[in-house]
Formats: sequence, C-alpha cells, structure tokens
Amino acid sequence: MIPSVLPTYNRAPLAFESGEGAWLTATDGRRYLDFGSGIAVNALGHAHPELVRVLTEQAGKLWHVSNVYTVPEQERLAEALTAASFADTVFFTNSGTEAMELAVKMARKHFSAAGTPEKMRILSFEGAFHGRSSAAIAAAPTEKMAGGFGPLLPGFTPLPFLDLGRVEAELAAGDVAAILVEPVQGEGGIRAVADHDLRELRRLAGEAGALLIFDEVQCGMGRTGRLFAHEWAGVTPDIMMVAKGIGGGFPLGAVLATVEAASGMTAGTHGSTYGGNPLGCAIGAKVMEIVSDPAFLGTVRARSGRLRQGLEGLVAQHPDLFEAVRGTGLILGLKCKGAPGEIVAAGYGAGILTVAASDNVVRLLPPLTITEAEVDEALTRLEAAASTVEDAMQASEGAQG
Ligand SMILES: *Cc1c(COP(=O)(O)O)cnc(C)c1O
Repeated sequence: MIPSVLPTYNRAPLAFESGEGAWLTATDGRRYLDFGSGIAVNALGHAHPELVRVLTEQAGKLWHVSNVYTVPEQERLAEALTAASFADTVFFTNSGTEAMELAVKMARKHFSAAGTPEKMRILSFEGAFHGRSSAAIAAAPTEKMAGGFGPLLPGFTPLPFLDLGRVEAELAAGDVAAILVEPVQGEGGIRAVADHDLRELRRLAGEAGALLIFDEVQCGMGRTGRLFAHEWAGVTPDIMMVAKGIGGGFPLGAVLATVEAASGMTAGTHGSTYGGNPLGCAIGAKVMEIVSDPAFLGTVRARSGRLRQGLEGLVAQHPDLFEAVRGTGLILGLKCKGAPGEIVAAGYGAGILTVAASDNVVRLLPPLTITEAEVDEALTRLEAAASTVEDAMQASEGAQG
C-alpha cells in the first residue's frame, strides 16, 4: 500500500485552513505564529490585502496566454527587477529549480557562443541547496539528495564550503564556466558567506574569465534587509536565481543576468509554457513594489535587530540546547547542540512554526511584514518550546541517574 499522495515528505501532523499576516489557523482552530513562511515564500505573510486585490483583479482579466505572445505584465516586472539590480535582462520561471536549470544552461551557452565551449564546468559548495532536478542534485550531491538517482550529470564540481584555495585550483584548469553559490545557505543551516569571501569569489571568477552565479532563491527579495543579499558585500553576480519570496506565495521564479552573461540566449534557446504568465507576474510586480521600498527594507532590518537580540538571550538562557544565533535579516537560525526536530515539534505545542535545516539548525523565516509585537510573541513562544525540551531532557536524565 502507498498513500494516495506520494510519500516523499516527512510531514508534521498539522493542516491549516486559513492565514492572515503572520498567523495561520489550523483545521482544529488552533492559531500558530508562522516563522517558516512556507520556507521564505510568504514574504508578505498570508492573505496580504494588496496581493489578494492584485490576484483577484488579474484573475478576472487574464491568467495565461503563452510566450508565443508579448506579455506586458512580464515586461513590467522585468523592468522593475532590472532597475533595482545589477541585471539587464530577466527570464521568468515557476520555481527555484527551473531558475537553477536556466542559470547553468545560460552560463554554458555564454561560453559556447563565445567560441570556448570547453568552459562548461560548474563549481558549487557543500551544504548548498539548488533544488531537486538532475542538475541541482549534481551540484549538491549529498546521499539524501542524490542517492540512487545516478548516474549524476557530469560537469559539476562540488567543493568544501568556501575552500577558496580549491576554487582557485579548479579555476586554473581553464574549463570552468561558473561558480555557483548561495550568499546565505538556507537548507544548509543558515550559513552566510562572509562579505570578504563573496568579494574574493567575485575576484577569482573575474580573473579566470568564469561567471559568478548567486542563488538568492531563499535569501533574496528583502529577506536579509536589503533587496538582494549580495548587496551587503558590494559585489554583483553575472547571473542570479530568484524564486520563493518573489511571488509572495504564487509559484514564480526568475533568472536575472547581465547582457554579457546572457549573450548566448537567443530566440529558441530556452522556454517555458507557464513561466512568466500574466497572473504570476502581476502578483510578482506588486511584491516587488512593496519589498523594494527602502522604508520597507529598513523595517525588516529593525525587526531583525529585535528578533536577533531576543534570540541571543534565548541561547544564553538555554546553553544546553543552543550554541549560537546565525544569519542576517529575517533569515535567522538557532544552531542547536543536537538535532533540531524536538525544538521544532515543541514549537508546534507552543503555537509557533519554525523549520529545521541541516547542520542542527532551527530556521526562523518570519514574513517580512512581521510586527514588533509579533516578534516579542514569537520569542515568548520559542522560550516556552525551549523550556519544554529542556524539562524533558532533565526528566529523562533524572530517570537515568
Ligand atoms: C528552495 C530553493 C531552491 C529550489 O526552489 P524550488 O522552488 O523548490 O524549486 C533552490 N535554491 C535555493 C537556495 C532554495 O532555497
């Protein structure tokens, strides 16, 4: 017997029926403070009035027409994205994984179109997550992601996290198309690349004539308190993947690129049936308008400061459970002494949703619209969850001793 839904997920026994802002209401009526945001997707929380309005208006006009035609909603969103970033051009996808596929294809095509097709290898880093497609698992081939799915696609070289010596050595081989990196690893455990390392990757790529691809699927769209995470380091990539937050809950992704990096992508080289449909792009344009506002981003930073300070206190209060606070903006992590699952589960009991990540981290990804009062409420609930786990630990130690 197999469940009617393919059992590939480890699901929590929770189901929701409605949401408003940072709050979700479960089917049993219990309310939860959502510090997962559907894994950084619901950037503006649930049922944001402006997004509901735009979605409903567009739904009454046009959902889908095909990229056989000009799509004005696509052009509007692309113009907003290019105006606010390093990029000159944008391709729209429906997910982060599809953005990953195009980023890799674009980098390789850039070199083949330039007459150097031997430059095709993609350097990536351990702990990275770029999706679940064949290319994405070749770039981050852990046993969990890639086991049994062989043969893995060739042309990917995962390196130890930020081993810049190895990066330099691989680049010296002359066959590298691009370095692929998340400025802040999400699934990998909220591991941020230090600004100076990001700058060093930019320098190394530039000197070797390779492209630099940033995967900002999780850390982009205001998550770090800047529109894009790489802005903190003052460097720009050649190609960038965005998804998750950009649709505010509607499936939408994008690849942003410089005119140079995109030089191989001429008519007919890539496409998508659904990518960039009017409905998704109308919503994305509204998300972009709200999130790229400097005042909005300033508020994200202020909320981050308050949350971070509270989390530092939580770590200090529970040294048996926690080691440190990680991350920046509203992509934060509690590095735990052991597996994070018990704390996440205790959070459900205390009415707060968080998400486990690799490297024993509890991820905190609240909506970017979180209020001060909600930050404080979250800290109270996390404290309750931590105390529950600690009491259980002490009880079992007492029983053993
Ligand atoms: C989620 C994620 C992806 C994959 O996005 P999907 O929309 O699930 O296909 C890729 N890269 C990063 C950094 C992500 O967090």
